[in-house]
Amino acid sequence: MRPARQTVPSIARWLVLAAVLAQLSCSGSTTTAERKHSLLVSGTLLEITLYDVSDAAAAAAFDRLEQDFHAFHASWTPWEESNLSRINDAIRADETAAVSADLLPMIRRSQDLYASSDGLFNPAIGNLINLWQMHRHEEDDIRPPDASEITRILAQDPRMSDLSIDGSRLRSSNPGVQLSLGAFAKGYAIDLAMDYLRSQGISQAIINAGGDLRVIGQRGDRRWRIGIRHPREDGVIAWLEADSDESVFTSGDYERFYMYQGRRYHHILDPRTGYPAMATTSVTVIHENAGTADAAATALFVAGPDRWYEIARSMGIRYVMLIDADGRLHMNPAMKRRLHLTNPETSHIVLSQPL
Ligand code: ADP
Ligand code: MG
Repeated sequence: MRPARQTVPSIARWLVLAAVLAQLSCSGSTTTAERKHSLLVSGTLLEITLYDVSDAAAAAAFDRLEQDFHAFHASWTPWEESNLSRINDAIRADETAAVSADLLPMIRRSQDLYASSDGLFNPAIGNLINLWQMHRHEEDDIRPPDASEITRILAQDPRMSDLSIDGSRLRSSNPGVQLSLGAFAKGYAIDLAMDYLRSQGISQAIINAGGDLRVIGQRGDRRWRIGIRHPREDGVIAWLEADSDESVFTSGDYERFYMYQGRRYHHILDPRTGYPAMATTSVTVIHENAGTADAAATALFVAGPDRWYEIARSMGIRYVMLIDADGRLHMNPAMKRRLHLTNPETSHIVLSQPL
């Protein structure tokens, strides 16, 4: 989820982005009744589409999901008083924290994703994220933090493995850990929403959050076409079609950034250096599970052109496209077979071994 302190222009920007970039369109001919609902959760436009449901069932599901998404945001935001911020307060005070039932599985999953990403997905770096103040990225007086501040936070070496959970009690061996789940929460929330829909007998749906999405169920011969935004130009660099039970997530350095003295500073941080990861401009992954796809897109962004393949293997990701700082498109052969490039003749592709 996006931080709470979004300005109106940024919300408008997201609406436009979502409209232009999600580029969801149907191919094929089979039609089933389709019901759509849009909502804005903390600056992110969510579009929910359901198939083969009655009006009454769709209305009830939309109502419930709208409440759920707002409740998730309220519980998981690190920027306001929330279940998550109370855990962070306790860790800072070197006390044991009570973890709410919604956050327990999230923190456990985050620990696993931290381990499988070799620490490149690291939601324990809340102090660093806070220091960079990326949630203020559209304000004029914003500038990078002092190097000494970054060094001080890095010296605390916050890791997800510093946390131990006993029942619903959490303790950190390191008071420098602060949780910030922004790289995972959107995907995880979409997974929870899909679980809920299935529990209601709704088995065909798509949830699209600003171009990141998950599809469940079959829709005859219709598929969803997803545009992948060009990281440096208006419009899409490629598109692909999502199959049933797939999630497609992209992390890009164009999503939240500011320019300072001619350099771009963006919101995906390299936990090893404390600075934005500079070797990548965009990563797209496909995976069944939206939470895993979300965390993996962030981790592979940090891994960059040299390490993405190794980290993707370790995270169990089978489709990756990474665009590096020189505009080269790194991908595995299975991803290449699914991608339709807008300008195939000018695209420089670096093909990896199969994943
Ligand atoms: P978006 O939410 O824009 O789709 P991501 O999923 O990549 O992008 O999440 C980026 C957010 O995750 C940042 O705004 C920050 O709060 C947090 N974050 C930044 N770097 C990392 C990292 N290396 N590991 C975990 N979380 C991170
Ligand atoms: Mg992510």
